[in-house]
Amino acid sequence: MTDFQAILNSIYTKIIKVKDKGTVASYIPELAHVDINNFGMHLQTIHGDTFSVGASSTPFSIQSMSKVLALSKAIELVGETVWQRVDVEPSGHPFNQLALLEVESGIPRNPFINSGAIVIADILVSNLKNPKEDFLNYVRALAGDATINYNTDVAYSEKITGFKNYAAANLLKSFNNLKNPVDDVLDFYFHQCALALSCSQITNAFFFLANRGRCAKDHQYLTLPQVKRINALMLTCGFYDEAGEFAFEVGLPGKSGVGGGIVALLPNNYVITTWAPGLNKKGNSKLGMLALEQFTTDTNKSVF
Ligand code: GLN
Repeated sequence: MTDFQAILNSIYTKIIKVKDKGTVASYIPELAHVDINNFGMHLQTIHGDTFSVGASSTPFSIQSMSKVLALSKAIELVGETVWQRVDVEPSGHPFNQLALLEVESGIPRNPFINSGAIVIADILVSNLKNPKEDFLNYVRALAGDATINYNTDVAYSEKITGFKNYAAANLLKSFNNLKNPVDDVLDFYFHQCALALSCSQITNAFFFLANRGRCAKDHQYLTLPQVKRINALMLTCGFYDEAGEFAFEVGLPGKSGVGGGIVALLPNNYVITTWAPGLNKKGNSKLGMLALEQFTTDTNKSVF
């Protein structure tokens, strides 16, 4: 049997010694205060065994990792119609790039770049009664943890500096791919990105994607075909213009956020979350990627 705890411990020992930890995101000012030396990992197997190391229970800003949960909720609410408004192709460009959106008439390449996630946020604003409250309750239920909350300072910090997201939302609006007012959609989007969860809470929230649509408490959230599609999108689009590199080095569907988190999973096997706030040039956690590369190498457990 694989000794997961020993593997996590040895990764931890290696990772904390790495000198170049990348750079903490500073374009959202509130994120710049986070200590770059934080590092944590949490793993849960499909059988419910859990293993952790380091700062695995410290909440941090999940940022773009929230886009997967928002997409899941949108699919639950409106099903396949999501794909009339967002495509399923990797963009090969940074998460906040706008050029393609203009060329492709307001249909974002995928739901994990910012413009695509803003369309998904629009769908949630249209279909949830109290969007922010309902979405928070959805994440709490998925994770089985009622203590999860938004960090409103982070949401505000992003609102006052989110010029590119305003540009994206306005461009979408001009192409008639945003039904609600720009301010309403972005207020929701900034809050979803400002959810604060720890590695263990994220692992719990994403468990249903490794478990054929069923959360740890055995509630069926999505069907297997729906889950397979979300996992396919994480593999091809979860790391923006570094999706190829992540598949090449780690070999798992996953999603990063500029808060320094990465969640990755092997269907029917396990979910793992890492947190290391320093980012590489593509906006993905530098040490998180390194740790996950080591994890799939040591365990020999990747989709390939
Ligand atoms: N909230 C961030 C933004 O919109 C999310 C980016 C990310 O995590 N890649 O810029």
